[in-house]
Formats: sequence, C-alpha cells, structure tokens
Amino acid sequence: MSTYLCHIPTQQERPTRAALEVLTHVRTLARRDGARLAACVLHPEADRFVEALKPYGVDQVYLVKHPVLDRHLNAPVLTALAAVFRAAQPTLMALPSTESVKDVLGALAARVGAAALPDVSAFDIGASVTATRPVMAARVLADTEATTQPVLVSVRAGTYTAQPAESPTEPEVVEVPLDFDTATLRATLREVITGTTGQVDLSEADIIVAAGRGVRDEAGKQLVEELARELGAAIGASRAAIEAGLFPASLQIGQTGKVVSPTLYIAVGISGAIQHVAGMAGSKVIVAINKDPDAPIFNIATYGIVGDLYQILPLLIEEIRRI
Ligand code: FAD
Repeated sequence: MSTYLCHIPTQQERPTRAALEVLTHVRTLARRDGARLAACVLHPEADRFVEALKPYGVDQVYLVKHPVLDRHLNAPVLTALAAVFRAAQPTLMALPSTESVKDVLGALAARVGAAALPDVSAFDIGASVTATRPVMAARVLADTEATTQPVLVSVRAGTYTAQPAESPTEPEVVEVPLDFDTATLRATLREVITGTTGQVDLSEADIIVAAGRGVRDEAGKQLVEELARELGAAIGASRAAIEAGLFPASLQIGQTGKVVSPTLYIAVGISGAIQHVAGMAGSKVIVAINKDPDAPIFNIATYGIVGDLYQILPLLIEEIRRI
C-alpha cells in the first residue's frame, strides 16, 4: 500500500488552516487511490496535535518531538522532515507552501532523492504527479509534471478547502527520533515578528481588508482598521501603502510579500499592479474600492465600488454594524 504524507505546521496550538486544506485534498486522493493517509507534526510536544487530526481521517501520524523544534530553524526542520520521510516512505509528500517550507523544500528533495513541484495551485497523482503552478507574477499558469516518484509538492494557501472527513479515525501514532546535535546549529532565531495586526493573522485569515496608496493618512488607516475589526478580518497592504509608512512591512501582500487566498479580499485604494495581484489573485471573492473606474483591480474584482474610500468606508462600516 502506498502512503501519501502531509506535513502539518502548527500555529497558536493548532494545525494551520493551510495545512488542513492540503490534508483534505490529499485525503481525497488517498481514498480514491487506496493509499494510506499519513500526517507529520514537528513540535516539542507534537502529541498534543494528534487529537486535532483525527477528524481529518488520517491513518497514521508521525511525530518528531524535540525542544529545538519550538521555532523554525532550517537545519533541524530539514533533518526532521527527512527522518519522517525515510520512516514513512511516501510516494507523495504534500506541504503547505509557507515561507519556512520554501526554505527547506529543495534541500529536502535532494536529501531524500525526491522530485519537487514547488508552490502549486492544483495537483493530482496518477502515473505521474501533475501540477499547475502560477509563474511570472501569476500572469501565466504553467502545467508541470514529475515523471519520477517519490514527489514533494508544496501547495499555495487557499487552493483547497479544509473539511473534516465523514468519519474520524483513530490513527496509528509513530514517533520518529530526531538525531540532531544542537551544538552544530549555525543560526539562532533572535526574534519572531508575526504579521498580525489586531487579532487575526494575515496568512490564516478568512477575510482580509487590504490598504493601498489611496489610503493616504491616519484617518484612512483608522477606517481600514475599523472595517477589519467589524468583519473580524486581518489587515494587509500594498507595497505603496507600506512605503508611505502607514503599515508595517510584514503586512505586504504580493510578489515580494505574502501570498494569500482568503474567502473575501477587500482592496481599498489599490490600483491592481501585477506585483500586488500576484499575491491575492487566488482570493475567492474580491471587492475593490477605487475612485478610478479604469483601475486594473476592477478587471479581477468580483464586485467593484467606484468612489472615494473616505466616503465609502464609513457607509460600509455603518451597514455592517446594522447587520
Ligand atoms: P497605486 O498604484 O498608486 O494605486 C493607488 C490607487 O488608489 C489608485 O488606483 C487610485 O485610483 C486609488 N485611490 C487614490 N485615492 C483614492 C481614494 N480617495 N479613494 C479610492 N481610491 C483611491 N506591490 C505590492 O503591493 N506588493 C508586492 O509584493 C510588490 N512587489 C513588487 C516587486 C517588484 C520587483 C516591483 C518592481 C514592484 C513591486 N510592487 C509590489 C509595487 C507595485 O508595482 C505597485 O507599485 C504597487 O502595488 C502599487 O500600490 P497601490 O496600488 O497601493 O498604489
């Protein structure tokens, strides 16, 4: 029986949404192909997460427990993932395409002798693994194929929807020892700056209110924050809004920022430059507010509101409060 394995990063004491999305898709493939569905968690207290994986129908959970795994450092994470890979012997290993995964994917493929399809927006496994990958700032979708197995696939957030299985499972738990000498660490993690403004983390958010250069002052910023608060949304920003000094760089969405795919993306005073769109085009519903009816953002928006954000946002906030 072949094994399909998912790497499950955790955040704030639970598996990340992006990980559960990938796990849900891999479960569909595993059930179709009669393969074993395995998941792996790297964490000093990894067994705490087994309970959260049971509703997702996993057959096996690989746990790597070591104090060095309390934060992401490439060297131990790479060693841990390779150890799990060797123990599970999967034909397919899927990982959410986070910054940390991007850091180690190529090295992991080399270490375990697997092909790698990075940062894909869809994938399937048959005689070979096929995937679609947005390239050139998401202007072009490239069909890619790995003709040898095993294969590592990293998957963009928001590509699939996380859904528990019809019935939960009681997975076999396999502990994989981590043979890593922390004295060999050549990097230390000095500070973690989370991309969180208010209560919601940008990369995990279901709703994002994103501000562009059209938000030109503190009053505009407060309107964006108020709208986000009313919706329980995370705040994002274009590079222009960040360069204007209104928002921290950790909130940048786009080619050189975060890639997000929330259910609802509200672009406020954002023109829709290709470098920004590259980071949010996968959003399910896009609402654009812009005073220029010819702004390119309207080409990809589900709903467009043409007008001055300083007039529209207060009305929107008022309406939402009324609901
Ligand atoms: P602008 O393009 O200036 O648009 C502002 C919009 O606000 C306009 O459409 C205007 O009509 C509207 N507006 C103004 N006032 C109001 C108002 N009162 N009410 C309503 N609407 C109003 N950008 C990113 O965002 N993310 C990236 O990761 C990124 N990476 C880049 C990488 C490279 C290599 C390069 C060269 C550029 C990158 N950029 C990135 C920059 C990108 O090209 C654009 O310059 C940037 O996205 C523009 O941001 P903006 O839409 O907020 O500003």
